[in-house]
This record gives sequence, C-alpha cells and structure tokens, in this order.
Amino acid sequence: MLARLRFPNERSRGRRYWQAPHPYRGDYQRDRDRIIHSRAFRRLEHKTQVFTVPDSDHFRNRLTHTIEVSQIARTVAKALGLNEELVEALALSHDIGHPPFGHAGEEALDTEMRKHGRRFDHNLHALRIVEHFEHRYPAFEGLNLTFEVREGIVKHSRDYRPAEFPELSEYLLDERPPLEAQLIDLADEITYNCADLDDAVEAGLLDAARVRKEVELFDRFLSQAEAEFPDASAALQFNEALRALLSAFVSGLIEGTLDAVEHGRVTSMDAVRAHPERLARLQPRPAEASRQLRALLSREVYNSPPLAAERRHSGAKLIELFHLFMERPAQLPAAYGRQAQDVPLHQVVCDYLAGMTDKFLLRRHQELIP
Ligand code: MG
Repeated sequence: MLARLRFPNERSRGRRYWQAPHPYRGDYQRDRDRIIHSRAFRRLEHKTQVFTVPDSDHFRNRLTHTIEVSQIARTVAKALGLNEELVEALALSHDIGHPPFGHAGEEALDTEMRKHGRRFDHNLHALRIVEHFEHRYPAFEGLNLTFEVREGIVKHSRDYRPAEFPELSEYLLDERPPLEAQLIDLADEITYNCADLDDAVEAGLLDAARVRKEVELFDRFLSQAEAEFPDASAALQFNEALRALLSAFVSGLIEGTLDAVEHGRVTSMDAVRAHPERLARLQPRPAEASRQLRALLSREVYNSPPLAAERRHSGAKLIELFHLFMERPAQLPAAYGRQAQDVPLHQVVCDYLAGMTDKFLLRRHQELIP
C-alpha cells in the first residue's frame, strides 16, 4: 500500500566500517542478527517491564515485551508494504538501552546524572551500547550497525534538537526518520497498553468491569464477546475483548498512517523525511481509546500502592549503588575502572548500572551494602 515510501535497502548509508556484503543476508537482516546475538539483548530477559517476576511466571519481561513489539511492528510494516527487515531490526533494538527496574531505574539514573549536569536517556544509551559497549569483533568496537538502524534507535520515540545534541549531528536531526522507524514507538505503545492491561488483570489490580467503564471501545468489544460466547468464562470473554482491542489498535495504526500519507500528499521516501511532522499515527478513534486506557493504567496500575512501593524501593537501591561507586570507584569492575581514566566517573557509573539486570543489581547491592 505504501510500497513507494518503503526504505529501499540499496539507499542505505551503510556501516561505519566497511564490510563485504553477505552472500544471502541483506544488511538489515544482518543487523537484526547482530542485535539478537548481543549481550544487551539477552539481558532483557532479566529486566522488569512493569511487573516484577516473583509474583507470577506469566508477566511480561522486557524480552517478551520486545518480541511482542517486533511481531506487531512487522505485521504493520507488511500490511503497508514497508521494509520489514529494517522494522524488525529496529523493534528488537528499541529497548536494549533500558536500565534495570523499568521506569524507576530510568528516573533514578536521570536524577543522579542531572546532579552532574547530564541526563539519562535510554535511546542514547542504546546507541552507546551498539556503538561501543558490545565487544564481538576484532576489527571494530560495537556492532557496526547500518546508519538507518542507528538513526532509528536514536529517533524512534522523539526528535532531538541539533543545537542541544551536537554529538548526534550525523543523524539528520532536521529530518523525520523513515516510516519504518516512525512505526516503532506506536507499536511499542499498542503493545504495552494491551500487555499491561492483561498483566494488571492477572495481578488482580484491575477487572473487566472497571476497564469497560473507562474505555468505551473495550466496553463495546466485551459486550460483543458476552453476546457471542454467553457460556464462556469471564476470563475468556475478557481475552476476546482484549484481542479485539489489540486488533483495533493495529488496524488503527495502519489506517491512520495511510490517511496521514494521503492527506499530506506524501509520495516518496524523501518526502517522508522532509515532512514537517511524523506520518505514522493512529486514527482518531483508536487513539482516543489508547489515551483512555493509558490514563486508567497510570492511575490504577502504575501508581497503585504495590507498584509505587516497589518502584521507590528499587529506585532507592539503584541510587545507593550510584553513590557507593562514586565514593569508592575501586569497587567497579576493572574494565570500568580503566574507562574512568578517560570518561567522567559519573558517566562510567551510569553506564555500569544501566547495563545491569534487575537481579544483578540486587546481588551487587546485597554484596556491597549488606
Ligand atoms: Mg518498549
């Protein structure tokens, strides 16, 4: 449908270090494979998405979340005729810069870095991972990903102003990213909204009656499920409604993006880049449902007493470790200690903590601050 706006493999700006083409894998397929084989990707399994694992074996973690995002983003890319291989590489890398303990970890690192006049941003941290921290090749540092995958990692969820981020100047900050990168943030939002709703019901923080009062579209789908399957259990009726909601979001993203492209008379990949705003979007009705769902999750789930307590608790542990390494850098692993000769200590400590899994951070905390 939007094949004319598809980012063509042959237009790639290529890799930082030249490498011979592979006999049967395209460049974005190779990037996907490099991401899947990276240590940062494997660590996603032990990083919190929203719910911490001890309560149930069924909650999403950041790895299963990433797989869901990839599946949804590829479905949308395929329906629109976009570059599915580029989309997959971007989806699989979209959270690799995430610190332990979800948003609590992100906030705690940002709070500490601000005291040193810096910020913590998981997109920029992901770029540092793929550019510097993964050591897999004798010929270069990092994964040597294509320009478009690095650009998508930087820009998937926001635009950066060139004046504020001169270090990112090579990433065409005045231009929009290709549609493939624009999709990722919305696929992410669709995925976590539906998954968090599912996990919140599993955790007993929400029930279908509450959701239908706040999210009109969900109410409609639940009524349909009740009419079609009157004898099914409430859990299966809920699941039917959730599936229909997810499907409405995905269709809403496909249709909304088509509408925006048509309305903006965008006819080429270069016009996508030059367009004043991003073109990937949900149609108004699913967008409204998404807002209603987000507001409900924020009030009843993310800020619920058990999750808020958990966040305070894990954020405090991360901050205690930050302070400890700032005061006693000798406790850092040798490789990080060496880096501190060239890079400010707070940056080294931040990089070390951001790379940790939840359980590794808890273990270090127990060892060092008994
Ligand atoms: Mg995500």
